[in-house]
Amino acid sequence: MDVFSYMIKEVVCCICGGLPLFLLRATLTVGVDKMKTVVMKFGGTSVATPEKIIGVAKRAILEKEKGNRVVIVVSAMGKTTDTLVALANEISTEPPKREMDMLLATGEQVTISLLAMAFKALGHEALSFTGWQAGIETESVPRNARIEQIHTERLERVLENGFFCVVAGFQGVDKVGNITTLGRGGSDTTAVALAAALNADKCEIYTDVDGVYTADPRYVNGARKLEQISYDEMLELANLGAGVLHPRAVEFAKNNNVPLSVRASYSDEPGTIIQEVITVEKNLIVRGVAFERGIARVTASYEKPFNGSLAKIFMKLAEHHIDVDIIVQSISEEIPPSVSFSIKEESLEETKRVLESYRDEIGFVNLNYEVGLAKVSIVGSGMVSNPGVAARMFDILRLQDIPVKMVSTSEIKVSVVVPESDMEKSASALHDAYGLSY
Ligand code: ADP
Ligand code: ASP
Ligand code: MG
Repeated sequence: MDVFSYMIKEVVCCICGGLPLFLLRATLTVGVDKMKTVVMKFGGTSVATPEKIIGVAKRAILEKEKGNRVVIVVSAMGKTTDTLVALANEISTEPPKREMDMLLATGEQVTISLLAMAFKALGHEALSFTGWQAGIETESVPRNARIEQIHTERLERVLENGFFCVVAGFQGVDKVGNITTLGRGGSDTTAVALAAALNADKCEIYTDVDGVYTADPRYVNGARKLEQISYDEMLELANLGAGVLHPRAVEFAKNNNVPLSVRASYSDEPGTIIQEVITVEKNLIVRGVAFERGIARVTASYEKPFNGSLAKIFMKLAEHHIDVDIIVQSISEEIPPSVSFSIKEESLEETKRVLESYRDEIGFVNLNYEVGLAKVSIVGSGMVSNPGVAARMFDILRLQDIPVKMVSTSEIKVSVVVPESDMEKSASALHDAYGLSY
């Protein structure tokens, strides 16, 4: 603690009776501990009822009583976002994305107002803020916008005045004033991005599980809670379907060194710390297993090699903001060329439309689709120096009679696409075989 700081403001030298006399004009400042800033984020289940919202307020009050400035980011109550999506689908099979953002952003707005009321009822001052009121500026990509910058002046002022700031997760505003949303699960990203912008001392994600596990404990028996995990491993797990954290939240935390933890909203257990360097609990090659259902495979085939077609397919899909995951191209003298790639099933209709509308330009003769697939991945930084990890994975799946449809590898992960009906079986088999189960 910086208790006393002694600041020399000026040094005046005068000559007095032939002797130089230094007069020091100094200020003695008694330092106080700089107040810490804490960002706490509560997900849908944790704010599902009025009682839970009051519980969140009480928890945040305890944090403030430690002498901290507290920002709370909340999701929509319970399954509100799903209900809103279903409502829109009753009106239209393909509702305009801009209007979906407008609709979905209302979910979080209900929670912020109720939480601010809860603070008031408990005798504390709080103000609620929508994304744009909190200064969260995003790119103009409806339903999946990235946060570009946060103008924190207003929040800073409110915090300085001793108020709680209650911010709606999952939403922002683009440069022309449209409300945008950050992709499902995006409230985590609001929290971490705010923590980075406010230079917060910690960002805590409170949820319905007490930490990050070696696999989703709802599906894999024997999944273990991790005390710590590195940003890189967490980023891979999140990107590969471990829904406990939004991938962009981890990206923000890594790029800005935000001290991040995932913990239970129903207990005081410490949770999992996500940070740069970790002390490895066990010398395991694989740290976790992730999986994601709802994958589709698209295959474009050609009569003969068509130079430039590959670039054209993926440029057109990128222009329409369609995320492509695994890409496999096979070109040989003997068989007609083809390219296969995987996407989320929900993007399939749009993908078909885009590719069909550029059929001549892209030059394929056939487009085939396969749905009902899932991606199962093993993740661990220990893989870099361990050859044969993929081979072992294929063998484990072979022993379970699980067909592998596509494969993709990086230094710290191996992913396979398998039938969705085999997803849980694959995940459990890999979790056991790599020694992750307790
Ligand atoms: P919130 O609404 O609080 O954001 P989410 O449903 O988005 O909560 O995330 C928590 C859920 O993430 C857990 O209930 C759990 O089923 C799931 N999950 C997936 N992978 C993991 C994992 N590796 N560790 C812990 N939870 C996981
Ligand atoms: N309410 C949004 C969703 O359900 C955002 C979030 O909860 O993080 O996806
Ligand atoms: Mg979530």
